[in-house]
Amino acid sequence: MNASGAVVDVSNVCWSERIAPLGERSPRLGRLDLLCEAWRRSRGERAPLTLIADGSLRYQLPRPERRRLEAMAHAGEIRLAPTADPELLSLARDQGLYVVSRDQFLDLRRAHPWIPSAAARFLAWQQGPNGLEFVPSGVRDVTEQRKSRAEEAKELIRGSGIDVRQTAHREVLGLDWRCPSRSCLHAMLWPERLLLWPDIARRDGTALCPGCGSPLEAAGPRPPVRVVVVSEDGTDGEILRFPLASEESVLVGRGSSTHGVNLAADDLPHPAATRRVSRSHLLLRLVGPATVDHRGTRLAVTELGSTNGTVLRPSGMRGRTRPLVPGEETVLGPDDELVLADAVRLRLSGREHFPGDRVLPDPSGPVLVEKTEFESDDPS
Ligand SMILES: [Zn+2]
Repeated sequence: MNASGAVVDVSNVCWSERIAPLGERSPRLGRLDLLCEAWRRSRGERAPLTLIADGSLRYQLPRPERRRLEAMAHAGEIRLAPTADPELLSLARDQGLYVVSRDQFLDLRRAHPWIPSAAARFLAWQQGPNGLEFVPSGVRDVTEQRKSRAEEAKELIRGSGIDVRQTAHREVLGLDWRCPSRSCLHAMLWPERLLLWPDIARRDGTALCPGCGSPLEAAGPRPPVRVVVVSEDGTDGEILRFPLASEESVLVGRGSSTHGVNLAADDLPHPAATRRVSRSHLLLRLVGPATVDHRGTRLAVTELGSTNGTVLRPSGMRGRTRPLVPGEETVLGPDDELVLADAVRLRLSGREHFPGDRVLPDPSGPVLVEKTEFESDDPS
């Protein structure tokens, strides 16, 4: 463990409006100089710093600074990585370094589960009486929903240029789109609506065909779809996940006569847990405000008088559980979970955006059950 060594998230530093020029919303390499100076002032002249930047920073800096960045990279003083975050986290983990960044790295928490337990090594900066000073950045454990939401947001930016923080971009996500081009393969495959997200034009936010680049036509509002994750409580070993569209109720239970989600299907893992679930255990539906971007959709649950009961566990990790009253519908909070029969955990995935009502495979590899599969209960 190198007690005073640190790895610096250079892009994050260069974009920080908390370093002079304060409040200036464009990246500056001079901010990195100020930060490195402050680090050496507080940790000693020889305190080792490893600098890692996103390669894209090169194109975001003003021209003279771009040349200086390239010269630093050439001299081995800074590393330009395709994406800096995974590299700097791996380095910090392997060498016990401090991480200097204001980022919470939510999209990489599953790949780096050690982060909350090393919170003291994550440092941000602020203006103090004697210039820049370093303070804990406040990383802490977060719910699975927040992790998957962050992963999805990152994938949307990388894949399509869609930034879920921007209202105009969220409106693109709230609609179905079709390509008007006669020669486009995507338009031929999906004449009604594309099953891929549009690309977003950087200049004006126009939705473009990911196949041919033509501006797309809106094909009406996209109905909300969320994914429900079912796992063994305690181990969190995944049993299955299934899509849930608005305007439909789904029965969750066990046995081949279940019209809905059968947790006791032959090939599913953790049979000891699902065995405790009743044949018709509970009813689920998606409720929420009819906003264009589906933010705020919630899970509503009705316990159906099951033998071993259902409890609501608030906010993932904290809070007191309470048993559900049979026959009464309860709307869950965004991070609430259900525990069926003390054995099976059920929650909404943090992923909110799917192109159309087909749920695409999750790259992290969990089981996905398409609607047509789980509606026919008996696989034989
Ligand atoms: Zn097209």
